[in-house]
Amino acid sequence: MYKAFLIKYAEIAIKGKNRYLFEDALVHNIAYQLKNVEGTFHVRKESGRIYVETEGEYDFDEAVSALQRVFGIVEICPVILTEDEGFDALVETVLKHIEVAYADKHFTFKVETRRARKNYPMTSMELSAALGEKILDAFPETKVDVHHPQVTINIEIRPLINVYSVRIPGPAGMPLGTAGKAMLLLSGGIDSPVAGYMISKRGVTIEATYFHAPPYTSERAKQKVVDLAKKIARYTGPIKLHVVNFTDIQLYIYEKCPHDELTIIMRRYMMKIAEHFAQENKCLGLITGESIGQVASQTMQSLAATNEVCTMPVYRPLIAMDKQDIVTIAEKIDTYETSILPYEDCCTIFVAKHPVTKPNIEYIKKSEQNLAEKIDELVKNAIDTTEVIMVDAE
Ligand code: ATP
Ligand code: MG
Repeated sequence: MYKAFLIKYAEIAIKGKNRYLFEDALVHNIAYQLKNVEGTFHVRKESGRIYVETEGEYDFDEAVSALQRVFGIVEICPVILTEDEGFDALVETVLKHIEVAYADKHFTFKVETRRARKNYPMTSMELSAALGEKILDAFPETKVDVHHPQVTINIEIRPLINVYSVRIPGPAGMPLGTAGKAMLLLSGGIDSPVAGYMISKRGVTIEATYFHAPPYTSERAKQKVVDLAKKIARYTGPIKLHVVNFTDIQLYIYEKCPHDELTIIMRRYMMKIAEHFAQENKCLGLITGESIGQVASQTMQSLAATNEVCTMPVYRPLIAMDKQDIVTIAEKIDTYETSILPYEDCCTIFVAKHPVTKPNIEYIKKSEQNLAEKIDELVKNAIDTTEVIMVDAE
């Protein structure tokens, strides 16, 4: 029935001179997402509008779910585009649309007409009223409600006439590729994939770094992280994943530093190494899945101690979120089931029974002096032996 979609985007509209850059990115990203959907699609810009037009048969549901992964889209409206062939032809189109789109006709509606082309023979008001009457005649179960209609039937008189009423929510946000790049510290947990998704939703391209500690963490734990990267790549596009072998650094910290400070010191080295790859790859910031108070290493004092080694901004989109709200997003983006698979991550192996919850940065720095002899060499070695995996959605 529908051969086209009208794509609505809101936030982009306020970007003034840069607007075309955002629209072009959106057009590009829509085409990219539709590449793997059965069918032929053409994406087109027309005076402040984006249309996706289809050619021949296509998979409607798959096309919609692909569009629902394009950041920047606020609404996806299946639309009928028709030549102006007079009022009667328009009535027929509108009635057919309602027939197909609404199985149950017990709804209230209003018709809203807009004329981008003022030479149309009826005013907007006249056309809305006339079409409303025809709809009531054809479907007596329907009722008009001009203030709070359940269904708004939009008629837009443009070069072609647009008829639409179904509005499928998009993910909103900003088009990918319009905001630079950031480095996600991606673990196998629930939080970091959500954090990456959220920052990417603001238009940021992402790379990821994972700290692997073989043989304390298994190949399956690493595969789990790759799988999570694949899941978020459905939204973010391909992800360059840096897999750092962290074992020797962890063992050295374990040998030389107080065990209750282990997690904090480890996390400081993770941030430093992630920042190295971030700089090397022209990222503008780091992203973590931290949230205040969630665990001992995420108290305000611990976050301050971890943050202290970073020179780049660290984006922590989950900082004020409750676990349940994070889980809800993880379920929505389909990372949750993978995240809860029981493979150990490197922090659970070396975690102390009673980690400090209020680390003092000066004490932490003092403990780190115990690492002076070998740590630079170990960090360099970890960087030199890092494996890079290009991860794309399946
Ligand atoms: P997550 O669910 O994201 O693993 P978490 O609640 O388990 O988070 P921590 O283990 O304290 O919390 O990690 C806090 C943040 O540090 C993570 O969200 C992630 O960004 C980063 N991180 C932790 N472990 C690793 C790792 N092995 N590799 C890469 N990043 C990590
Ligand atoms: Mg974790």
